[in-house]
Amino acid sequence: MNEEIKLKILEKIESYRTIIVSRHIRPDGDAVGSTKGLVRLLKDTYPAKDIYLVNDDYADYLAFCGSEDTVTEDIYENALLITIDTGTRKRISNANFQKAKEIIKIDHHIEADPYGDLNWVEDFRSSACEMIADFYLTFKDRLKMSTEAATYLYMGMVTDSGRFRFEGVTGETLRLAAALFDFGIDYETLFAHLYMETPERLKLKSYVYDHLQTTKNGVAYIYMSEALQKQFHLNLESASDVVSDLSKIRGSLIWVAFIYNSEKQEIRVRLRSRFLGINDLAIKYHGGGHNMAAGATVYSEEEMYALIEDADKLLGEYKATHEGWL
Ligand code: AMP
Repeated sequence: MNEEIKLKILEKIESYRTIIVSRHIRPDGDAVGSTKGLVRLLKDTYPAKDIYLVNDDYADYLAFCGSEDTVTEDIYENALLITIDTGTRKRISNANFQKAKEIIKIDHHIEADPYGDLNWVEDFRSSACEMIADFYLTFKDRLKMSTEAATYLYMGMVTDSGRFRFEGVTGETLRLAAALFDFGIDYETLFAHLYMETPERLKLKSYVYDHLQTTKNGVAYIYMSEALQKQFHLNLESASDVVSDLSKIRGSLIWVAFIYNSEKQEIRVRLRSRFLGINDLAIKYHGGGHNMAAGATVYSEEEMYALIEDADKLLGEYKATHEGWL
């Protein structure tokens, strides 16, 4: 069935002269990699088309991927808009998306909002980049892959899959990554961009390890309050990064970062887990995402502690009924 959707998507792309590509707000490596990768692929394949990458926000840590485009609103009227890696319309990083003539949604989140005129959603994929790589291989006689496009897509695959460690990684994932790798990716530079940290970031990490809390059953969490963000000169994005610092604690199968958003006066929640799912917990707190990586929002410290209590209960039940977890 998905072969049919892919063909329809290719036909739509071929029928439009103007194409706009967008991703989700607060982008990660997959959102940027998949959109940059597709745009490069389409520009190289169809040099006569006007193809734009348009988003309302960006992420400083991905600035090495280069800039994006700005377009006037009238461009949308006859444009095809392709969103990638964006489960719900609320998360599209393009306030003008509804002005486009048609929308194609390409995504790997659990389907909750089929907002596209065409929706190609495969939630078993470890990244959206994997889908774009698959799209390319399906039509490789009609599409042109460059080293640059392959590098963007490979970047999204390695980041969203935790370097090919997370749930959803399959032999197919590795075969698609291998196909991209054959385009001559400069992996030394790519991984330097992904791994190198500033002394300031390491100081923050040290603080996080000193101050993180652990519940009775092992849920690790930290609250990045407004005061803490000021102390370390953090913006919302850099404060949110701390979730990754909590990921390697033995016995803490669920870990959560709470980040106060002073502008919206709410608390962003980043939930992660191994061995057990936390998506339902995220949904309960106004969010969602993947089984083991999800986001939510809480509106008070009281609600934050309620979420922690729920997470603790979930982990307690899991530990009581399963063996072999770490
Ligand atoms: P994050 O912690 O923002 O990296 O999000 C982890 C995953 O959950 C990503 O795939 C997001 O797209 C998804 N996600 C984050 N926040 C939300 C939300 N409020 N509603 C639905 N999905 C979300």
